[in-house]
Amino acid sequence: MSDPVRAALLRKLDTDAEPAIAFLQGFLQSRSANPPGDTTQAADHITDFLTESGAPWRIAAAHPHLPNILGSFEGSRPGRHLVLNGHIDVFPPIDDTGWSGERRDGMLFGRGASDMKAGTAAGIITYAWLHAIRDQLAGRLTLTAVSDEQTGGKWGTKFLFDMHRDEVLGDCCLNGEPSGLNNVRFMEKGTRRYIITVLAPGGHGGYPHLSRNPNKIMAAITAELDAKLHMRPANLPSNVAGYLTTPAAVATLEAGMGPGAAEVVRRMTFNPGVIHGGLKVNQIPHACVMEIDIRIPVGIDYDRVHDEVAAICRAHDAGFELVEAHSYPGSMADPDGEMMHIIQDNAEAATGARPVPMSSLGGSDSRYWRWANIPAYLYGPSPVSMGRIDERVTEREYLAVLRVHLLSAYDYLTRS
Ligand SMILES: [Zn+2]
Repeated sequence: MSDPVRAALLRKLDTDAEPAIAFLQGFLQSRSANPPGDTTQAADHITDFLTESGAPWRIAAAHPHLPNILGSFEGSRPGRHLVLNGHIDVFPPIDDTGWSGERRDGMLFGRGASDMKAGTAAGIITYAWLHAIRDQLAGRLTLTAVSDEQTGGKWGTKFLFDMHRDEVLGDCCLNGEPSGLNNVRFMEKGTRRYIITVLAPGGHGGYPHLSRNPNKIMAAITAELDAKLHMRPANLPSNVAGYLTTPAAVATLEAGMGPGAAEVVRRMTFNPGVIHGGLKVNQIPHACVMEIDIRIPVGIDYDRVHDEVAAICRAHDAGFELVEAHSYPGSMADPDGEMMHIIQDNAEAATGARPVPMSSLGGSDSRYWRWANIPAYLYGPSPVSMGRIDERVTEREYLAVLRVHLLSAYDYLTRS
């Protein structure tokens, strides 16, 4: 274990901790709310840093206000291709204090501190610092810092896959989305979202013999969708189910995401998020519109869910309309994969505790790699404050994430 290059990287993490924190602080102060989705200020902050570091980069953008930063370099000998991925855009802040980047009590505050400017910064610094020692590496390292993740990724990672697939696919992907230091995310659910409309002639509330009531029909549809879909268990591969049900995994998951999370992770869920129907209490509505969000884990037939939803609607109303909104299938990497173990080893060395393999509850761009059978893993700071007015990251957490990304990328690019 006496690798002098690796030892020098560990020393650099100590000596350059302040510049690394300053980079994140400046990143937090750079506006990149999406919507509306103008990330040029934050992208400039990144490209200034990369230029100063001497690491190569270029912009690959579908729209000028949504620049994706794409950079890549070769090591000194053939090897594997690792891709670092993170998003620049963040949820809109509650007010302008979201761009303060305030540093207080060992923490950095600001929109995106958790989701995911700390993780993206870790990837950017990893890329720049490893570029400086590229003679010591095998293979290739690519950075993808994208400007559209919060609204689905169409102009971000998906755009890079559509336009520059060979450059960004790689052999493995590492992402710093918030996870918490005690777990590594290797899978996530898919989603199917629909807008269901039930129409009727409508009329006077005292004349129910003249029109069906769309609100009643929608209530029956809702009850049946809930009974048939909500909390249906997934048929997970046995090694995956095993990882998600160990006492350590259950405890970690529920400590981070609340009691019940360990069950939810392994089951399909149904959420009727919006229902609109009717104009006045004594009127029969002419329409009821409902928007639903179904979260589908790996191990449940994604295509069949669509047929089931349509069949349930049809059973209650022959004339229903069903429009599918933002939808995509779940994704998974090997919970026993090489990069999982590399991350676990480095995290254990950094924090003193070995992180457990875990499923995400939300979505991330890692799915684009996993759908292409490229293993992708998430390791980042605590997700607890994401999107909140006091969104923050502790300096300790951020530096641990940076250390794990830097050393994991180094290990991956030197072990082949
Ligand atoms: Zn995110």
